[in-house]
Amino acid sequence: MTKWVYSFDEVAEAEALAGDWDSVRGLLGGKGANLADMTRLGVPVPPGFTITTVACNAYTDAGGVVPEGMWDQVRIALDGVEEKTGKKFGDPKNPLLLSCRSGAKFSMPGMMDTVLDIGLNHDVAAELAVSSGDPHFAYDSYRRLIQMFGSVVLGNPDEPYEEILEEFRKKTGVATDAELPTDALKEIVERFLEITPRFPDDPNEQLKLAVEAVFKSWSGKRAVDYRNASNIPHDLGTAVNVQTMVFGNLGDDCLTGVAMSRHGATGENHIEGDYLFNAQGEDVVAGIRATLHLEDMANDMPHAYEELLAISDRLEKHYRDMQDMEFTVENGKLWLLQTRDGKRTAQAAVRIAVEMAEEGLISKEEAVMRVTPDQIDFFLHPQFTREDREAATAAGKLLAKGLNVSPGAAVGQVAFDADTAVTWAEAGKKVVLVRPETKPDDVHGMLAAQGIVTSRGGRTSHAALVARQFGKPAVVGIAELEIDLEGRNMAVEDTVVNEGDFISIEGTSGEVFVGELPTVVPDIKDRWLSTLLGWADEFRRLRVMANADYPVDANRAKEYGAQGIGLCRTEHMFFEAERLPTVQKMILADTAEERQKYLDILRPMQREDFRGLFEAMSGMPVIIRMIDPPLHEFLPGHDELEEELHDLEESPSATSGDEIKEVERKLGRVDDLHEENPMLGFRGVRLALLMPEIPRMQARAIIAAACDAKEAGFDPKPEIMIPLSIHVKELERVKAIVVDAAEEIMEQRGVRVDYQVGTMVETPRAAMTAGPLAREAEFFSFGTNDLTQTTFAISRDDAEKSFLIRYVEEGILPVNPFQTLDRLGVGGLIKIAVEGGRKQRPGMEIGICGEHGGDPDSVALCHELGLDYVSCSPFRVPIARLAAAHAAINDAG
Ligand code: ADP
Ligand code: MG
Ligand code: MG
Repeated sequence: MTKWVYSFDEVAEAEALAGDWDSVRGLLGGKGANLADMTRLGVPVPPGFTITTVACNAYTDAGGVVPEGMWDQVRIALDGVEEKTGKKFGDPKNPLLLSCRSGAKFSMPGMMDTVLDIGLNHDVAAELAVSSGDPHFAYDSYRRLIQMFGSVVLGNPDEPYEEILEEFRKKTGVATDAELPTDALKEIVERFLEITPRFPDDPNEQLKLAVEAVFKSWSGKRAVDYRNASNIPHDLGTAVNVQTMVFGNLGDDCLTGVAMSRHGATGENHIEGDYLFNAQGEDVVAGIRATLHLEDMANDMPHAYEELLAISDRLEKHYRDMQDMEFTVENGKLWLLQTRDGKRTAQAAVRIAVEMAEEGLISKEEAVMRVTPDQIDFFLHPQFTREDREAATAAGKLLAKGLNVSPGAAVGQVAFDADTAVTWAEAGKKVVLVRPETKPDDVHGMLAAQGIVTSRGGRTSHAALVARQFGKPAVVGIAELEIDLEGRNMAVEDTVVNEGDFISIEGTSGEVFVGELPTVVPDIKDRWLSTLLGWADEFRRLRVMANADYPVDANRAKEYGAQGIGLCRTEHMFFEAERLPTVQKMILADTAEERQKYLDILRPMQREDFRGLFEAMSGMPVIIRMIDPPLHEFLPGHDELEEELHDLEESPSATSGDEIKEVERKLGRVDDLHEENPMLGFRGVRLALLMPEIPRMQARAIIAAACDAKEAGFDPKPEIMIPLSIHVKELERVKAIVVDAAEEIMEQRGVRVDYQVGTMVETPRAAMTAGPLAREAEFFSFGTNDLTQTTFAISRDDAEKSFLIRYVEEGILPVNPFQTLDRLGVGGLIKIAVEGGRKQRPGMEIGICGEHGGDPDSVALCHELGLDYVSCSPFRVPIARLAAAHAAINDAG
């Protein structure tokens, strides 16, 4: 016979059957398992029992039929409770009242329902009024039962009940329900019964219907949506906990509250919480009455407070984590009604993990594992301060609240369509895209925006999914937000926001403010964060480097813990305003001599940049990539030149003849360089081969800068990287140019520096021929963006706009391969290349550079593939450090 029901004191039986604690939680739900566990620990928990998740699943599978034997087992468990409490369920003389509470394996706050005070009817209430000596309490409990039963079990709307309560509050002149006089409560009970005709008088019937309602709530829309959004499997089922009521509403020596063993926002090691005198559980969270701070309880009820502190401490030590507890004091006696691991902000997660390790409660390794790379990301994201949010709210600037689907703060000008968002973003504006809802056509606008707001849609809407995927703060489902796409404005009641106006959104709380709120970037030097990352460094095997083009970025990267530069893109130095004209002349030169003239101007500039990098990263590798992009990117466009030509012809002057000639020459070169698919065209190593003056200049600048740095007492470690090679012969030639230039400079200077020449692996051919490539290349770096493009044969810019997001939404691809490395395809090529390269050149240094280097799952794959390092943007270095530690710890065991 299946055991469907476990009393709270049968936790040992549950463990014997289920195996480990995780399975006990699966069987009894998180709430039930912990209630039983607390009972075993001797923590005061009102007696009760748990109906298992297996029973719930059996009920659901049978189309809403309770499994055989379940009610009999409930009856037996109930007998046990009656014995322990000395009360009897349904007996007016000495009634046992029960709560019926849902509780799945993973907490789903507010998703499923609870009914309190089961067991009351006319007779029981009347007797209870006498026997408790507190008629107010008896009828307060009774009216609560009818209302909860009506809404939770019978599915009635809440408003009619609230209207009646409001009517009586007005009539009797009180502010809160707790103050309603007993006579009013009696009348309210009658009125409630009128609108709840199906309320059963029979306590057993009440219990049965309540249990079934909890079973059903598992398949309700609210719960299904929640599980979809939080990746909780649908086949877990919920348990039902039936428990003796304890009363926080039995007079002034009664209270009810919630407590966190540490501060959920800051992580401070001090119990915090709220409570209410003369109230029942839901009142505290419902926010109808202003709650009191837990510290006050030390004065108000010192004994119970001391006991609560001791229990809180004990539970923390037992569960080895911060606890979120519900408690009630009935006539001075403390009862615990729930405990679970508490939810916390990223800041609190870091501080609690570090302090618990310092206290010896958990190991350093566990501390590192308790914080997710995403939390580090969030920790370091720009945020609004609480003070600023509160001030904005007080000043009436809170426009609306919606669903908080993607965390982070964003400030920008409202744009009502994707194209506008893109145009404005390209013009350097910060925008927030606001739409009724988003579609695949809007993705380019979503990417261009700082944040996203929609008036429709839920946690699993297109907007929510895409925003989370790209790390854009988003608030969706703001029902009261009226968007007028024609009129280009939006409004909540009287507040109108026009397109172009600034708004500030907070994706963690779901708030939307009018105007610009200041953002703060949290401090990387935070004591707890730096301690945690320091521990992560002890565990990881992968080195973490940064992609940085300028000395300022290099310095920031170092502050964030980077161990070198994995990618310096030299072309960024070419784009600077004062250099670009020289760069253009260099590219447009007709002869090698002329080209050399302009390169001679550029060389000292590059040398200065490189020297700054070597100084910032003294003693650490600095990998500098030779010029990579197609040359047309540096040049004016065809149309632009046509226009210039036109203007010159319109207004002739003394010099215009020569000018026209020059522009025509430029136009000819620009047209020569035009390509249908520049991404697959004249770029990378191909440039270096056809214009060898360029790599020569760059090599000279790099080595000269290294000599400068060395003479100034630094320890430069230059590595020169050749992009996009597909054949070892390319490398042979370019390497020869580089080595010649380097030797020449070092000879001249009389200084020697160690340097390496390597290549990027960005094409399937390079990966497949890694062995031969490694004859020339002293190191490899996977350019995973291009490698993904060439492996999939798709262009990122085009694909993300059109089909790629659809592919992810429809599950054709599990993730966007430009965000998380494709394990089998791209990962497979990397594996082949690593093997081929290391076979040819044992111990060669191999890593990746590009955005994937800062993506936690990709970092884990790089660890698995045996790479030496990942390189990512400076801001993601801390995330990569933690992700690398997680990979190493998971790997070890
Ligand atoms: P939720 O998951 O929404 O917190 P709970 O099942 O924990 O639902 O219960 C809702 C509220 O009712 C909580 O405040 C809880 O403390 C209170 N409650 C539940 N069971 C009892 C009981 N037996 N006696 C007193 N209060 C209870
Ligand atoms: Mg609930
Ligand atoms: Mg609860």
